[in-house]
Amino acid sequence: MSATIQSIDAILVDIPTIRPHKLSMTTMGVQTMVIVRMKDTDGLEGLGEATTIGGLAYGPESPESVKLTIDTYFAPQLLGQPADNINTLRVRLNSSTRGNNLAKSAIETALLDLQGKRLNRPLSDLLGGAVHQHIPVLWTLASGDTAKDIDEAQSLIAAKRHCDFKLKIGSRALMDDVRHVAAIKAAVGDSASVRVDVNQAWDEATAARGMAELQAAGIDLVEQPTPMKDMAALVRLSEKFHLPILADEAVADASDMFSLASAGFAGAVALKIAKRADHCRR
Ligand SMILES: [Mg+2]
Repeated sequence: MSATIQSIDAILVDIPTIRPHKLSMTTMGVQTMVIVRMKDTDGLEGLGEATTIGGLAYGPESPESVKLTIDTYFAPQLLGQPADNINTLRVRLNSSTRGNNLAKSAIETALLDLQGKRLNRPLSDLLGGAVHQHIPVLWTLASGDTAKDIDEAQSLIAAKRHCDFKLKIGSRALMDDVRHVAAIKAAVGDSASVRVDVNQAWDEATAARGMAELQAAGIDLVEQPTPMKDMAALVRLSEKFHLPILADEAVADASDMFSLASAGFAGAVALKIAKRADHCRR
């Protein structure tokens, strides 16, 4: 008989940031993660994680609501169930719960981790095999202070830790942000790639002005410049500029991605573990 799920604990972990992390919608001094510990009757443990930024500032789920969803609604449906049929459990959660992608992804990750441990195989093997052995990781500069951000970037380049940087902008007047970004790009020069994440803060007219300035300053990419629901603005901006756009908040699942692509969007899409490949409910 296969092992069943014996316990599920959702634990809130607060990790202080090394400096205030300034975004268009909030300033973070702490990153709260939800860690899921799932144990089966054989004594194995799978780990999952749900992470968002700035409480409820980024999306409709907060760390506290993820914990409540898992404790109150998901655990009673999963405890005592066979742990090795992840697809059945996924259908069960999708039929009983709309949305709540962060909570679902934390559970799914814990189930996959548990499966890998049970089979004694890396999780990448269960998903068809790893394509890359290592991937570049970019560093986010978001102190809000131009000189501090330049110092941080230059020390990371000198230490050979990072050469791709993302700047969180959108909380200040457009030209203040443009001057901040252009100064950082000028300081690091061709030794680094600089991109920005506006987190939906601009309307389309502001985005058009901002993208023209950022394109001229040598910035490599603009992430989610306009509100997530305004897909037409993303399409028009992607037609107007060769500076690429990365759609992030606008694409939560495969259906959003199809809608955006079929409307003519020529940019890229940010993938995250919590975004849903399947959006079916039964
Ligand atoms: Mg983003």
